[in-house]
Amino acid sequence: MNQDLPLVAPEPATTRLDSSETEIGSVFVSNYPPYSFWSDDAVSAARDVLHTPYDPTSDRDLGLYLHIPFCRKRCKFCYFRVYTDKNADDISTYLDGLGREVELYAELPQTAGRPLDFVYFGGGTPSYIGTRHLRALVERVQAAMPWTGAREVAFECEPGTLTEAKVQTIRDIGVTRLSLGVENMDDAILAENGRAHVSKEIYRVVPWIQEADFAQVNMDLIAGMIGETWETWRETVKKTLELEPDSITVYQMELPFNTVYSRGIRDGEAMTVADWQTKRDWHAYAFEQIADAGYHQSSAYTMIRDGNEAGFVYRDAVWTGQDMIGAGVASFSHVGGTHFQNAPQWDDYLAPIRDGALPLFRAFEPTDRERLTRELILQMKTGRVEPRAFSAKFGVDVLVAFEDAFAKLESERMLVASPDAVTLTHDGLLRADSLLPEFYDAKYRNARYT
Ligand code: SF4
Repeated sequence: MNQDLPLVAPEPATTRLDSSETEIGSVFVSNYPPYSFWSDDAVSAARDVLHTPYDPTSDRDLGLYLHIPFCRKRCKFCYFRVYTDKNADDISTYLDGLGREVELYAELPQTAGRPLDFVYFGGGTPSYIGTRHLRALVERVQAAMPWTGAREVAFECEPGTLTEAKVQTIRDIGVTRLSLGVENMDDAILAENGRAHVSKEIYRVVPWIQEADFAQVNMDLIAGMIGETWETWRETVKKTLELEPDSITVYQMELPFNTVYSRGIRDGEAMTVADWQTKRDWHAYAFEQIADAGYHQSSAYTMIRDGNEAGFVYRDAVWTGQDMIGAGVASFSHVGGTHFQNAPQWDDYLAPIRDGALPLFRAFEPTDRERLTRELILQMKTGRVEPRAFSAKFGVDVLVAFEDAFAKLESERMLVASPDAVTLTHDGLLRADSLLPEFYDAKYRNARYT
């Protein structure tokens, strides 16, 4: 899974500086304005953009997100569009549709012939599909939209789905950044939270991954899975560092509405979920340990090994408003400043593609102010924003345009603002997402995010 861009978005995004319990709902911010304001009325605007020839003077990079929505098991905290019941024929059908969708983009005036700057295989679990399926998909996509010049090809993996041959195939297709969903090192916690893998599978695959020599190997952890204690968390951080990944990404456990856990809580099941302060303490502990091991902050979630210059192209491109085609069921795209999303159901996604049409479901055409806000809040998640970059791009001084929000958060010691840079403090970094609604237009503040 990739929590930098959830495919089924969290809801609602409200400021939670004072809340301590982990309530049902989510604070992770992946886009703006909230999805509940997107509509099928705006789909025609998205189609207009796609049928307008690309203007090279606009100087926007183009990336491709490929959604592989299959998993071995549904994690109890998962809110993504995933399927755990599809057979090999279903997967072939889906991948055929995915390949065809990319071919349709390759013919559209806005996206035809543009080089891909990055490619992201997300899910779901991209490593769930077999090597034959993966090679066939890549061959078809590459024929339509080659990625030979891409700065980054990223691929998400679940440890228990990898074989040595599959790791080599992932390397062969040009992947530069492999992200491994470790989440926790304690088998009882992994099992309780519905993860399909066990810790020995992590140890089995890491030597294959190291041997394949990817430019960057990331490992994801979640602070505050059900059953977590200080002791298990310390062990998880220690054992992850011993595996020497190039970067480590730590998320704080949330309870979005449509998860197994959230449904259980609503049905009255007793469940102990760590409060926000405890999760922040665990997150802070992880950052300290990781920093002591020679890593530096890359965002409010990710720390990268000193000297590794690979970065995270996909994240930076999305957060700076570059173009991205999101191919696959329920996937989100952002092209020419317009947002759009694919149909979120299997048949609704595949049927239009069979007829040669893009399966667009809803869209949103932001105002200039909304585009500015989107880029500002997403870049705040890196922990540092340079106001001059916004003046150059939007002709707006963000320190003036968002004066009240900056003043409030500065008074709460969540950030320090100056004309050179807005920098989140240590406390601000640990709750970055909960700060962002301060910058929202009033009508979006308490909106549902789905
Ligand atoms: S691995 Fe778990 S969290 Fe990730 S997409 Fe699959 S079910 Fe969701």
